[in-house]
Amino acid sequence: MNEIMELDRQYVAGTYARFPLELVSGKGALCYDAAGREYIDLGSGIAVNAFGYADEGWAAAVSAQLLTLQHASNLYYTAPCVRLAEQLCLRTGMKKVFFGNSGAEANECAVKVARKWAGQNKGPDSYYIITLNNSFHGRTLTTLAATGQAVFHSQFRPLTPGFVHADAGDLAGVRALTEQYPCAAVLVEPVQGEGGVVPLSEEFLRGVEALCREKDMLLMVDEVQTGNGRTGALYAFQRYGVTPDVVTTAKGLGGGLPIGACLLGERVENVLGKGDHGSTFGGNPAACAGALNVLERIDDTLLAEVREKSAYVFSELEHAPGVRGVTGLGLMIGIQTEKPAAEVLAACRENGVLCLTAKDRLRLLPPLNIPFDLLKKAVEIIKAACA
Ligand SMILES: *Cc1c(COP(=O)(O)O)cnc(C)c1O
Repeated sequence: MNEIMELDRQYVAGTYARFPLELVSGKGALCYDAAGREYIDLGSGIAVNAFGYADEGWAAAVSAQLLTLQHASNLYYTAPCVRLAEQLCLRTGMKKVFFGNSGAEANECAVKVARKWAGQNKGPDSYYIITLNNSFHGRTLTTLAATGQAVFHSQFRPLTPGFVHADAGDLAGVRALTEQYPCAAVLVEPVQGEGGVVPLSEEFLRGVEALCREKDMLLMVDEVQTGNGRTGALYAFQRYGVTPDVVTTAKGLGGGLPIGACLLGERVENVLGKGDHGSTFGGNPAACAGALNVLERIDDTLLAEVREKSAYVFSELEHAPGVRGVTGLGLMIGIQTEKPAAEVLAACRENGVLCLTAKDRLRLLPPLNIPFDLLKKAVEIIKAACA
């Protein structure tokens, strides 16, 4: 074990089962460990490094802002935050944006919006939010309550009340909950990421949308992982052809810096008023300058490339020896392997490819701009590890 691993064990809270690998630098889709070994990274820091490591355009935008005004607080106006909100709205049809610093915070904001909106429009008891079993919405006590996986809950009760869960795909189950509980909203991931890279069916998500209209509830989509080009559209809801009332996003938006955003549609754009919510770091100029650079580069050409690379990975792996199936959307890909996923993951790492897992699957979230030759090389190594 090297010194950093030993110090981590001694001084860092033991919440992470880290791989025995110290990363020290990177460039694009490649990164290097403390011994100088090179890896092709298909994890992107969990869908965060949208354009890989040390991307020059992004780093230049962030550095220029750092050397100008790195933070101001929300007592003052700053251009990067306002321009980013403008771009997010223009490109999604949403009307207003609240900025936080993480996915969980973006979802916390969505929950507050749903509760206040329902209190004003449906009465004080209509605070229930329906989420899906096998979902993941974050680690705060409220977003844990929203997360439909009991394994995360057991040791941290009491959680925030007001969340009920249905199975993905079970529209009748969602409807039954709306008849049992006075509901404010439905919150879903278009593709369940941590739950194993499982896309919702178009039929189900459109059915949920129709039910939300019928029952006067908000449709809220958690695009913390699926957002920002990951699925081959700027946001996955655009691929599904639904119109959400609230969209949350984080991970890839910052290109490597912490940022979260809660996008508010027409029905809820004025729900939050002065003093209702806030964040000291939210809308930080450096994070927003980086996000503006990321967003501006996720254009139609890049999105077409994401879909093309996705089709390549699916076609190469779907019928490969040792592979039971491939799920996902765009460059958010889950691989059901015959060998345990952890074993395949370790074999990939030993052969110079970093992947992730989600539940019992291998998970790939490569940088959106990964060059085709590196993707091909990595896919060959994955195939060998699966066989
Ligand atoms: C990662 C993730 C979150 C939590 O984001 P943090 O930045 O870790 O708080 C929430 N929802 C989804 C769908 C995620 O993938």
